Amino acid sequence: MNKLEKIYEGKAKILYTTEDPNLVIQYFKDDATAFNAQKKGTIEQKGIMNNRIASRIFEHLQQHGIETHYVETLNDREMLVKRVQIVPLEVIIRNRAAGSLCRLLGLAEGTVLAVPTLEFCYKDDSLGDPQVNEYHIRALKYATDEEVKAIKDMAFKINDVLKKFFLDLKIELIDFKLEFGRVGGRIILADEISPDTCRLWEVGTGNKLDKDRFRRDLGGVEQAYQEVLRRVSK
Ligand code: UDP
Repeated sequence: MNKLEKIYEGKAKILYTTEDPNLVIQYFKDDATAFNAQKKGTIEQKGIMNNRIASRIFEHLQQHGIETHYVETLNDREMLVKRVQIVPLEVIIRNRAAGSLCRLLGLAEGTVLAVPTLEFCYKDDSLGDPQVNEYHIRALKYATDEEVKAIKDMAFKINDVLKKFFLDLKIELIDFKLEFGRVGGRIILADEISPDTCRLWEVGTGNKLDKDRFRRDLGGVEQAYQEVLRRVSK
């Protein structure tokens, strides 16, 4: 499968068409951004590590009955995926409070949530991905009610599967962001799941193994991603 035409370039990935109109190549870059792209940098080898980590996670989710856009890993930085129409929502699931939820509600980082929570944000960088609720989604036709239901059901199931997957690797899944796509009238999981899009804390030490190391200049960024890769590859 060869890359033909660049169709999209985001902060961390590039999408290319292929000879097959139903398949695209997702290329993982080393570029990293935070705080709505106000902070920019690169994380050495991040593209290679995230491609491998996301591939492993997609394979695991598919084994547990969650349909994803993942088809196969082509090489170090490229993943073959189904072409979908992206639903313009970011879906955030949380098991403990961190990041924006702590700022919003004045919570201590790590506060355990009695049940997992779900937030929707409208995907628009120029607006800073503002939070929206189901009434906004319906009124502005970002997704249908059926799609919202499918997305919520899948997101909580993904949380159940991934919490266990990571816990077996002595990692606690604190929160994460998902994106979904439409294909053939169905909703499937798209984009990536990696230390760029999750908060992952090592069990016992509480060490952060995710992009917060970059966001907050904690050092050891590459090593943290490498450690996640090492554990998911077992
Ligand atoms: N997240 C993401 N992309 C975004 C916003 C958030 O992947 O554009 C992830 C983030 O890495 C974390 C979770 O979603 O795992 C919740 O992020 P939060 O709302 O706390 O935002 P932040 O603290 O990054 O502002």
